[in-house]
Formats: sequence, C-alpha cells, structure tokens
Amino acid sequence: MFRKGRWLAWTLSILLGVGVFRHFTLADNPVEVSSILRRTEIQSEAPIRSDESTKPKASRSTSAPVDPRILAAEDFLASDSFSLALPLVEDCLVDMPESPRVRRNASLVYLGLAIQASTQGNNRTALSFAQQAMDMDGLKGAPHAFYGQVLLQLGRHQEAELHLQESMERYPENPEGYYFGIRSAFLLGNYAEAVRRAERALSLRPSWASAQTWLERARNEEETWRSGQRWTSAHFICVTSQKNASLISLAPYVSEALESAVLMVEQELGVSLDEPVLVLLSPTADFQAGAPSWASGLYDGRIRLPVEEDTDADVFEATLLHEVTHAVLHRSGFHLPTWLGEGLAQWMEGKDVSRARRRLQDAAQAGQLPSAAALREQWVSWSSQSRVQHAYDFALSLTAWIQEEYGQQVLRNVLDALQQNDLKVVSQRLLGLPFSVLEQRHRHWLEETVK
Ligand SMILES: [Zn+2]
Repeated sequence: MFRKGRWLAWTLSILLGVGVFRHFTLADNPVEVSSILRRTEIQSEAPIRSDESTKPKASRSTSAPVDPRILAAEDFLASDSFSLALPLVEDCLVDMPESPRVRRNASLVYLGLAIQASTQGNNRTALSFAQQAMDMDGLKGAPHAFYGQVLLQLGRHQEAELHLQESMERYPENPEGYYFGIRSAFLLGNYAEAVRRAERALSLRPSWASAQTWLERARNEEETWRSGQRWTSAHFICVTSQKNASLISLAPYVSEALESAVLMVEQELGVSLDEPVLVLLSPTADFQAGAPSWASGLYDGRIRLPVEEDTDADVFEATLLHEVTHAVLHRSGFHLPTWLGEGLAQWMEGKDVSRARRRLQDAAQAGQLPSAAALREQWVSWSSQSRVQHAYDFALSLTAWIQEEYGQQVLRNVLDALQQNDLKVVSQRLLGLPFSVLEQRHRHWLEETVK
C-alpha cells in the first residue's frame, strides 16, 4: 500500500495542463497578424486563400470594372489586415448585399477576425465573428469548422459535437470539420467515432500530420477503454490502462481521492464540474512513454496519472489536486493564459510559494527569469528542466502575488467574472489594469527583493 509521508526526491515533480485545447497569448499583447495564421490549425494546415473557390482575386482579370473598395479590401485580405478590410467590406455589403464576391470577402474578413480574437483568448468575440462569417459565405465549411473549434475551447462540448456533426454532414469534403470532430468525439469518450473521423480527415488530406497523431491516439484509447476496468464515481470514471492487479487494487482509493480533490477545488475556486472526467491510471513506465520526463501527471482532456503501490500518498494527492484543477477549469470553459492555469493549479495543490520565490531570486540574480513572451509559450515542449522550473515558479509566485495585492477573494472573483466576459475586460474591471502590466510589476517586485 501507500507509504505515507515518504518525500520523493524533488525531481521537478511538475504537473502539466497540456495545451491540446489551449493556444493562448495574453490578451493585452499586440499579436502579429501573420503569426495568427501560423498558429491556427485551420489556416496553417489549409490556407483558406489558397483554395481556388474562395480566392477573391480569381475574378480580377475580368474586363468589367470592379468597385475600388473591393480591390482595396482584397489587398488588405492578402496581407491578413482584417481590421483594415472590415470597414471596406461592410461598406460594400450595404451597396452590393447579394454580390457573391463581396459576401466571400466579408466571410474571410470575419473569419480572420474570429481567429485573431481566439488567438488573443477572446473566444466569445471569436464565436460571434465566426457566426457572421458563416452567415455571409460557407467558404466550403471553414468558418463552420472554426466555430466548432471555438466551442470546444469554451468547454461547450455537447454543443460543439452537435455543431460539428452538422458541419460534417453539410461539408463532407472539408477535412477540418472531421478534424475537430475527432477532438469532440475524443472528449466525449467516443473513441470508435474519433477513429472514423480521423480516417475520414486523412482520406481528404493524407499528409495531415496532426490528424495522423490523433488517429493513433484514438486507436490506443479505444483499445484501453475496451480492455480496461472502470470505476465510476460522482465526477470521474477511472480506467486502468491494462488488466493490472496492482492498479485494480488502487483504483477505489484513487476514485475517493479524486472526489475529495474536486470538492476542494469547488470550495476554493467556486467552479464546479458538471460532466464526468475520464481518468486513466497507468504504471509509471507506461505514463512516461507519453509524457515529458519531468511530468508527474497530465491533463489533456482527461486526467492521466502514473500510480504504483509504493507511490507516496501525499505527493500523489497533491498531483490529483493539480490535475483536477486543470480539469475543472477546462471543462467549465475557461481559456486561461498558461501561467494563470499553472499558477492556480499549483496554488490548489498547496505548493510552497516562498520556496518558489527563493529559486526565482536566484534566477533573477543570474538573469534567468522567464520573459513575458516565454510565459505564454507551451512549456511542455521545452527541454531545459531549469527553464521549466522557473516558468512554474514564476506562475505560482505571480498568482500568489495577485492575491497578496488584491485580497484572498480576487482569484475567485476573476474566475466568476470570466464566466461572462473575456480576460481583457475582467482584468481591467477587477484589477484596474491589464494582466501584462501586473506581470511586469510582479517581476520588478521580485527583482527588487534580490537587491
Ligand atoms: Zn499543470
């Protein structure tokens, strides 16, 4: 059984909230437009403007004179300057509401703005632009697929599934509808359907590497799900990754610990879990095969935990709290910057803030504090353990610092307000300034305490 109290060697027992559904930048930083297209799967995988049927310039060579506003809007579109194109296309829509070319341009502009808003974390705005794009021109399904992606990011999974089902029926030749359909089926635990959709996406676009990765994951999960054993509790379904007697004997304990964890998260953060989360228990070696070497738990739409009979119970329960925090925040539709998600998760697990700050002060002296830009990256892909450690420490310190500055209730209030508003609005309204400014103040405070 568990040996209580044995302190595991501190080997960066850091926990992950993998950004499968997160690609985030702080709301207040200007985003380079071209980077949006690179970061967005829809456009980076299948540039909309490369599609002949949606290419606005296709008709430029015709002899009939073209309204100069149309041409100007298309020039802005060609350089991804969606905000500049917007007044032009809206003006054109007033005079030529039925023109297919004008409607197609408008749809492209709205879709571009939707992607831009989503990249900046403003998914409610993104949803409304994507809706406008759909209303203007279907663009062979691109705005429909994107709308489904945003619903997934907002945690509205059932709605996303229904929407994507409609997209797949309406645009059976668009691989993106199937691609996001894989994720949706995956999240709902329907792996056989996820496999079918991945195969369809790949038949439409054979070289799509991330669809291939999802196909393999879905096949593995389907196998595990079929052959594993399940324990269902109020908020979780625990599945063992194989017919492993040791895991089977630990599963009831894990189920109970998960329920205690979700109760604590609900009490502390005021956010509840309304749909069951799948939890995969694996032997450590199996877990490590699919996670960075420094991870001791993972949330990627489901919770993944390595567990052995001699695992330290205190450390394991802290890991549970961390991953359950990610799960509750994600399932409730929060789309937080990496540092805030990791800050909250570490704070919930009871990580020692002063210890983190001592390490940060050493890092500050060596000029190794993570930059603001680095804090918005996916830390999962970093190979340097000390870099990862500094990022987690910084996230915890900053989250705790916001509480120290604004009072105990502030994080709960921020989360509460985020249910109705985007991060930018909430930050300004509750904290009086953008998150990026807070981040700078905390950084100066850390550097001052070193001197
Ligand atoms: Zn985490």
